Amino acid sequence: MSHDPNCIFCKIVAGKIPSRKVHEDSELFGFHDVAPWAPVHFLLIPKQHIATLYDVEDAHQAMLGRMLRLAPRLALELGVANGFRTLINTGEDGRQEVQHLHMHVMGGPRPWARG
Ligand code: AMP
Repeated sequence: MSHDPNCIFCKIVAGKIPSRKVHEDSELFGFHDVAPWAPVHFLLIPKQHIATLYDVEDAHQAMLGRMLRLAPRLALELGVANGFRTLINTGEDGRQEVQHLHMHVMGGPRPWARG
């Protein structure tokens, strides 16, 4: 499994940077966003270093499907039962700040800080 020693999210997966974990399995990791837009805002990431959606390969398709399947389960576990938003920013024009593929999951009662 590939890791980038300079990647902040790889460091979170490795436990070198603390996070508020919401999920971990053999290929996915989930944790609360440090600057939440919504009352519940967590990120789902592959444990392996995939920089962006542009870097996704056919072999990653099942993992991406699992990520989508996991989002509503975790949202419900965290009390989000009235809907949520998912967002994957990609590349410069997509305003992706962290170069490790991640899906935002945002929910909870409005108003939200952003979005
Ligand atoms: P994006 O613009 O899609 O790349 O979003 C990156 C997200 O990562 C932002 O919402 C940040 O608040 C979040 N983030 C950055 N560093 C951390 C961290 N150490 N722990 C949790 N979330 C983080």
